[in-house]
Parts: sequence; structure tokens; C-alpha cells
Amino acid sequence: MNHRHPGAAAQDDVRSRLANRAVELDRRDPLAGFRDQFVANPELVAYLDGNSLGRPTQAADQRLQGFASREWGDRLIRGWDEGWFDLPLTLGDRLGAATLGAAAGQTFIGESTTVILYKLIHAALSAQPERTELVVDTDNFPTDRYLVQGIAADRGLTVRWIEPEPDAGVTVEQVRDVVGERTAVVLLSQVAYKSGYVSDVEAITRVTHDAGGLVLWDLCHSAGVMEIELDRWGVDLAAGCTYKYLNGGPGSSAFGYVRSELIERVSQPIQGWMGVANAFEMGPEYRAHGGIRRFISGTPSILSMTPLDEALGMIQEAGIPAIREKSVALTEFALDLHDALLAPLGVTLGSPRDSAVRGGHVTVLHDSFEQILPQLWAGGVIPDFRRPNGLRLGLSPLSTSFEETRLGVTAIAEALAAVQDGPGDDGPGHEAL
Ligand SMILES: *Cc1c(COP(=O)(O)O)cnc(C)c1O
Repeated sequence: MNHRHPGAAAQDDVRSRLANRAVELDRRDPLAGFRDQFVANPELVAYLDGNSLGRPTQAADQRLQGFASREWGDRLIRGWDEGWFDLPLTLGDRLGAATLGAAAGQTFIGESTTVILYKLIHAALSAQPERTELVVDTDNFPTDRYLVQGIAADRGLTVRWIEPEPDAGVTVEQVRDVVGERTAVVLLSQVAYKSGYVSDVEAITRVTHDAGGLVLWDLCHSAGVMEIELDRWGVDLAAGCTYKYLNGGPGSSAFGYVRSELIERVSQPIQGWMGVANAFEMGPEYRAHGGIRRFISGTPSILSMTPLDEALGMIQEAGIPAIREKSVALTEFALDLHDALLAPLGVTLGSPRDSAVRGGHVTVLHDSFEQILPQLWAGGVIPDFRRPNGLRLGLSPLSTSFEETRLGVTAIAEALAAVQDGPGDDGPGHEAL
């Protein structure tokens, strides 16, 4: 380049300040050492998608490599007696204690989040069959909305929609406005998958209870990265996936939570042989187990729980308070990077600025993001694109560094600037040619 944009020297200054900050933040990061426990990927420059699919731990890699010969090949059918049969509940208890604020006996590992949500929506309805309304928000993840619509159609119930602000999420006031004597269940996400907004679980749960309804929280974007206190907040039901911040691997089994007082009062619709009091009696009729086991349907996927088992150890060791602290620092740094490098190119923020109501990811918006995505991926910079114009920067505290975040956002800024400077485009920057 034989010319420079006006203000280029000032930009250089900003960039070197950010580079120094990243180094300093990494140097002071008490969780920095955990990065070395993940499987190395030499081609990776910046993984900004930990909110969608977490990276594998080395421990998971070793367990999986030896699984066929050691655990499966060696133990064979005996494995079921030696721990596999109860693994959905023992691992559930560990996950509940490490990440959900849940005492033992209320958390299970089951199928996908979609299937567990289906079971738990039905469970909520079974507790109060006279109530006819389901509440969900228009910005909730598609699966959550589709399930509610399908169940409402099947059973002749009514869906009450909450419409949140696009760069925020569902507020206590919005819930108060829709709940009433007909409300059976309110299904919301603690962290909005688009904006990253954090809803007030405790207050929304209280408002729903005041109306006599039950709450079902989707924790997919908060489990493993936010402080969650299901027992203390009085939450009735919850579910979430384990392949995002819980590093369980693609399609790993999801978890469900049912408050202890509720377990015996509710039923679930997929009544299978593994959810009864004594599965090996193979009795003539389904009689639901008295405990959380009643939410298990069929044979659990032992293979898919193996990486989660390893990742949970790491999360327990680091502790959720320290993980959340780093998560806030990472997203704050991402906001600084946005303001300095992306905003001048016309990018806008799709997430809250207040870290008290922001989860583990930051969403930035620009119409050219779809165009630059293949180039970013080819260069080892992997954010998450959401149509029509959103890039989510999902920063996973145990595996993401501040320098990695800086390199990723810098690459996004450079790719965007190149598109805007390109031939036949009269976006900003053209006047400098
Ligand atoms: C990722 C995600 C899901 C995923 O559901 P699956 O059944 O695992 O495909 C559901 N809900 C929310 C809010 C999510 O973010």
C-alpha cells in the first residue's frame, strides 16, 4: 500500500494499546493455565465459538481413545452394573453441584435438550392440568418455540408470546404482564442466544409463582459460564445442553433439573423401561420411579457422557465464580475491541453494555459479515454467524485468552475493511483511495 487512511497513525496507536492490554490481561489471568488442558490446534488463530461448541479437553481425548479397548471392551456388559446404569444420575448430581446450585437427586443427564424440554414442558402441564396457557418469547431459540407451539396444538392450549427488545431480552415486567390464573408454564432462556442478555431468573420465577404457574429455564447459554442457583432461586424445572460451555462434545447428552418437591407430583410422556422403580423386573406395567430416575426413558448414551465427565472436573477445579469473573473481563475486552476496531467500520453492538445483564458472548452486527465468514474460517478465525447479519463472539473462559480475542476481532476488522475498500463498493474508506 502506498497510501494510508487519514488517522492511520491514531489507529496504530489504538491497536498497540489494545495489544498491550491483551498481554497484561493474560498475564494477570488466574485461569490462564487451563488453556493448556485443551487439545491443541495449531491452525487455530481465534476460536470465538465456545458458546456453540466447546473445545475438547486432552483428558476427554485420552478417555475417548481408550474407551473401546478399556471401558467398553474390557468391562463389556458388566459395565452397566459397575456404574453405567446410574451414570445419568451420578453425573447429573456432579453437574448440579458444580454448575447449577442443585442439591443431589434433582439433576439427570438424558437425551438432547430438545427432547428433555419436551418432557419437562409435559411434566409442568401434568402438575396442573386445569391451566391452559404456555408462555414463551419470540426471540427464544427455535427449538423452544417449536416445542411450545407443537405441544399447545396437540393439547388445545394457548401460547402467550413475550416480545423482547432485539438487543436485550425478557424482563420481569414483561412476564408479570402475561402471567395469570391460566398460566401453566413459562419457558425462557436465562441467557438469550442472540443478544446474550441475562434474564433475572429469581425475580421471574417469583412473579410466575405468584400467579400460580411453574417456570422451566433453558440454561444452554449459561450452564458452565454463569452463576446459577436453581435451589436457592426456587426454580421448578430446567434443562440445558452440555456441548457449549460444558465441553461435552458434539451432540453430547443434555441435562434436566426438577425441583425435589415436584418430582413425585409430575409425570413425563416418554415412559420407558429405565425410568421405573426396578428396571430389571421387566414388569407388566410402567410404574414411575419415585425419584429423578423417572425422567430417564431408555438406555443412556455412555459414550456421549465421557467428555463431559472430564470437563466437569476442570470446571469444579476452577469454580464458577472465577469462571464468571473471567467471562465478564473477556466480554468487556471484546466490547473495547468492538468500539475501537469495528464501530468505525459501521459495525453495531447487538448485546447489552452492562455486564450485569450480559452473559458469555457478545453479538456484533454488520451486513457484510456473511460475505467475510469463509475468509475468516479459512484463516483460523472462527466466530459464529447468525443470519441475517450477526456475528457472535463466544468467549469460553477456560479455553479463550485475551490475546486470542484481540487477534480474532482484529481479523474481523481487517476482513471488513478489505471488503469496504474493494472494487465496486462505495462504503466507508473509499474516499481515501
Ligand atoms: C443450543 C441450544 C439448544 C439446543 O438444543 P439441542 O436439542 O441440543 O439441539 C436449545 N436451546 C437453546 C437456548 C440453545 O442455545
